[in-house]
Amino acid sequence: MKPEQPPSPSVPFPSLEQFQYKLFRKSLAYMLAIGLPFILGYTFFYHFVFDAASSAIGWRLLAAFWALCLFVSCANKNYQGYSSWAVVIFGLACYTSVVQHMLSIAPLADALPHSVTMSTVFIIGIMAISPMLKKAQTVIGATLITIMPFLLIALNFPEEKIDYTLVARQLTCAIFAIFLGLKLKADSIESYHMHFKLHQAGQRDHLTQLLNRSGFHLALSPHIERAKRDGSSIGVMMIDIDHFKVINDKHGHDIGDLAIKHVANQVIKSSRPYDISSRFGGEEFLIALPNISPEELIIIAERIRSEIEQSIFKTPGDTISLTVSIGVSTFKPQNDNTLLEGAIKMADSVLYQAKRNGRNRVCSALDIAPAEFSAISP
Ligand code: GH3
Ligand code: MG
Ligand code: MG
Repeated sequence: MKPEQPPSPSVPFPSLEQFQYKLFRKSLAYMLAIGLPFILGYTFFYHFVFDAASSAIGWRLLAAFWALCLFVSCANKNYQGYSSWAVVIFGLACYTSVVQHMLSIAPLADALPHSVTMSTVFIIGIMAISPMLKKAQTVIGATLITIMPFLLIALNFPEEKIDYTLVARQLTCAIFAIFLGLKLKADSIESYHMHFKLHQAGQRDHLTQLLNRSGFHLALSPHIERAKRDGSSIGVMMIDIDHFKVINDKHGHDIGDLAIKHVANQVIKSSRPYDISSRFGGEEFLIALPNISPEELIIIAERIRSEIEQSIFKTPGDTISLTVSIGVSTFKPQNDNTLLEGAIKMADSVLYQAKRNGRNRVCSALDIAPAEFSAISP
């Protein structure tokens, strides 16, 4: 189950698969950092120092090679659908080659228990550290672990009878792999939800679920970069509830909170899906509207104002009429990062012009006196 996405706008957060893939790549890097030197060192020590177990060099190098292949296949930072299949297929290929190699170089009784133990540990390791495997992939992988050695025995030693001790060992390993894989998957989902909640809590206002100031700046920054590239304008809209103090004084703070929520919902409903809406302060909202002309900005602001005026805000014993005043400005980010602050200041100033002009209206920079305009112009 994916966590519920709050209303627009969206602040970038990785998908569940991307999050799990990141965990997997980290674990894989640790595993290889420890495992590869171990395999190679072990091989070197026995083969060159003691000149012993030379026949086993092949499978160790093979295991190292397959592990490296797996690492390379997962070198892509972004999760792709095939990444989890790469885990299953490389793991199984490694496993099969190890068992086959052991079977072909040693008598069955010596080779099999050893190869089964070593390679099962390897495949369980891979399955266990890959939380993004689908349940079916974990089950398919573990089932193939169980079947593979017997298939290979049948091919290499057609006369041989089934060794039930080995069957038991294989089954235990497969069940262990399934449970470990599923448990780690569940843990990764829980951890994802926790990260997601923390991410939201740091960027959203608790009362309205709109972005807070830092969330606003984070969500807007990719739009500013885009606007720099294509030379488009970004609109800024400052909304303030009229005579809000009266609502608080007359109906109480709780109803005041509900009124703020009501206006926030109207703002979400009336703005475009990619607009970035935030709660700027007590009863003030700041919206950034990417890729917009001044004329379109005034039309949208007027729509928001009129929809809030016409909306019905019902309290348990009353119906309260709410209005807002709105100040708008636009800016072209180009190469100056301070223009956003200037545009916010400007929207705030024209908002106060709207208040002075009688409230429940939209004002833009054109509505304020030239002297006032130059004083706040960024
Ligand atoms: P104006 O039309 O000029 O905007 O008048 P106003 O009464 O809306 O503005 P003013 O700035 O005088 O009052 C805003 C009030 O909002 C003051 C503050 O107590 C209240 N307030 C701020 N944050 C919250 C909040 O989270 N919940 C509630 N209920 N009230 C809040
Ligand atoms: Mg205010
Ligand atoms: Mg107000």
